[in-house]
Amino acid sequence: MQRGRTPGAKDSRARSETLSGMKETADPHGAQLRARAVIDLAAVRANVRTLRERAPRAALMAVVKADGYGHGAAPCARAAVEAGATWLGAATPQEALALREPGSGVPADVRVMCWLWTPGGPWREAVKADIDVSVSGFWALDEVVAAARAAGRPARVQLKADTGLGRGGCQPADWAELVAGALRAEAEGLLKVTGLWSHFACADEPGHPSIAAQLLTFREMVAYAEAQGVEPEVRHIANSPATLTLPESHFDLVRPGIAMYGVSPSPEIGTPMELGLRPAMTLTASLALVKNVPGGHGVSYGHHYVTAGATTLGLVPLGYADGIPRHASGGGPVLVEGKWRTVAGRVAMDQFVVDLGGDEPGEGAEAVLFGPGDRGEPTAEDWAQASGTIAYEIVTRIGSRVPRLYVNGEQSG
Ligand SMILES: *Cc1c(COP(=O)(O)O)cnc(C)c1O
Repeated sequence: MQRGRTPGAKDSRARSETLSGMKETADPHGAQLRARAVIDLAAVRANVRTLRERAPRAALMAVVKADGYGHGAAPCARAAVEAGATWLGAATPQEALALREPGSGVPADVRVMCWLWTPGGPWREAVKADIDVSVSGFWALDEVVAAARAAGRPARVQLKADTGLGRGGCQPADWAELVAGALRAEAEGLLKVTGLWSHFACADEPGHPSIAAQLLTFREMVAYAEAQGVEPEVRHIANSPATLTLPESHFDLVRPGIAMYGVSPSPEIGTPMELGLRPAMTLTASLALVKNVPGGHGVSYGHHYVTAGATTLGLVPLGYADGIPRHASGGGPVLVEGKWRTVAGRVAMDQFVVDLGGDEPGEGAEAVLFGPGDRGEPTAEDWAQASGTIAYEIVTRIGSRVPRLYVNGEQSG
């Protein structure tokens, strides 16, 4: 396996070394597998560096919720930290606590934050594990204060403002009361307000009027809290699209998720290559069967595809149980022996079929569903288009039945 070089987005020599490194590492472990998702950790590191360059004055929180958007939370968290992330973001407290397990390999001085709490959640464990917890409402403030009392140490609390997303966060009308409650608890030594933060609704649509409106509201809500005496370490609102397109949203910290995995937040913002990003996940399967069929043969459940003439069919052993969208039936692209093929008929639970048009690759031949695209393979964005969804959903849904293989795990400069 190649070490010694980091693939730069613009460095084709480094890139081909990564690919050969990928082959050498993946084949001994992966070729016999039904399918595999190869995760290029050098790409994650390079993406995090690129994002840091886009927000040079802000700290970077690598968002590794949902098992690192399907890429594996702990390995991607480690790679992000190696590339300069000083915070990790999770949705649930369980995800955050897992990052504090010694087995995760995440250094103990890295800050971890989580934001999706429900009543009765593991507040005390989170306080003991030095996790920054988000509070949007009064019930959560009450529970975190009780947990801090029980734990005998102050909680790190980040107050979340609903600046217009209309999802989590505290409405402006309730902000004064939440801030006052937090300051009372802070005066008692039960918590420290470490952050003031919010989240965008439409940052992936540059120029959308809600963006400027949310920024204005955020500034007002931050200014109010600070005037009351809150001294946050960090103020933050920028997700991937805002990190990439909206410098005035960077404040003290940016929170990119999808972009650190090399996937563009939206085709409107640009392709990964245009953004200097490299997709980290390559999903491949080994053809389980290749066979000749006559013309007029129905294919897969419901016979929604019928062969136009005598042809060959290839059986791809991945299905909706593995996260292949059933909505990609008849449309999902697959690279087999250098040619794009399309899902023929329905995606089933465990398998789907491609029409190979008379070609006869051997059983076990590689079918590439998506990857960075530089071998001519489709990308997660192509699957998103074919399925009527976003690339976030494509990578995040890849199921636990698909083994993740990590390449370029050693940091190389
Ligand atoms: C998921 C999430 C992010 C990251 O969003 P991307 O669009 O993937 O960059 C940032 N902040 C919060 C609160 C999130 O839930």
